[in-house]
Amino acid sequence: MINFHVMTLFPEMIESGTGGSILGRARKNGLISVDAVNIRDFTDNKHGRCDDYPYGGGAGMVMQAQPVCDCCKAVRESINGQGRNGDSTRVIYLTPQGRTLSQEMAEDLAKEEDIILLCGHYEGIDERALELLHTENVSIGDFVLTGGELPALVMIDCISRLVPGVLGGDESALIESFHDNLLEYPQYTRPEVYEGLRVPEILLSGHHENVEKWRREQSIERTLRLRPDLIPGAKLDKRETRYLESLMEKENGN
Ligand code: SAM
Repeated sequence: MINFHVMTLFPEMIESGTGGSILGRARKNGLISVDAVNIRDFTDNKHGRCDDYPYGGGAGMVMQAQPVCDCCKAVRESINGQGRNGDSTRVIYLTPQGRTLSQEMAEDLAKEEDIILLCGHYEGIDERALELLHTENVSIGDFVLTGGELPALVMIDCISRLVPGVLGGDESALIESFHDNLLEYPQYTRPEVYEGLRVPEILLSGHHENVEKWRREQSIERTLRLRPDLIPGAKLDKRETRYLESLMEKENGN
């Protein structure tokens, strides 16, 4: 069970993004919980403001430190109140300046009982709040979005599917792309022929061992072609290493 606590100015985005499909079912079944906490509820400002102009000038608005820090304090207290350790719960700030999210990171975070996700908006959050909260900074890619809510949903999704029971068969999370640093093999379902294209014969053979061998080779071939940057970290046995070498030789025209 993982408890996600999302600090946001737009809790409805988090609610609607986790209410349906596999995440909605996981919430109903008590495999994950998602608590979207409105940062605005913690502002000292009597008009409910949470942002202000940037010191030094420049475009846009900056989220103020006070509501963010007080919101986080309340979230930590609420975790403590449920008998877990809110004081040591990791706080992840979603920001384009963070470390890029990876499957490895998701696997590491899936070991936590509680995770606090902090969503920025506008030009971002006053740096002092990030310092005081000791945030870990995570980006979902080299592009800029309007807010941290979609990145938070991406994180909730990829971490949740690693929680036992969230996917139909636990197995399917293990043999997916990035497992062993390889992309997944191609998948096919019925019918056997579609628009003249046949499902590879081997998949109809019922020979489990040959199917596995074919799938591993497809993964290696695909990774080399589409994501050669992953190849140095790929976990291959001796036979697979030879297969990879033969592909690379072919590629170099030997
Ligand atoms: N001024 C900030 C900068 O240049 O680094 C960008 C602020 S962005 C417009 C507003 C918020 O969206 C950020 O505080 C962050 O929470 C979120 N955000 C935008 N792009 C993101 C990305 N690639 N990954 C994670 N969060 C992102």
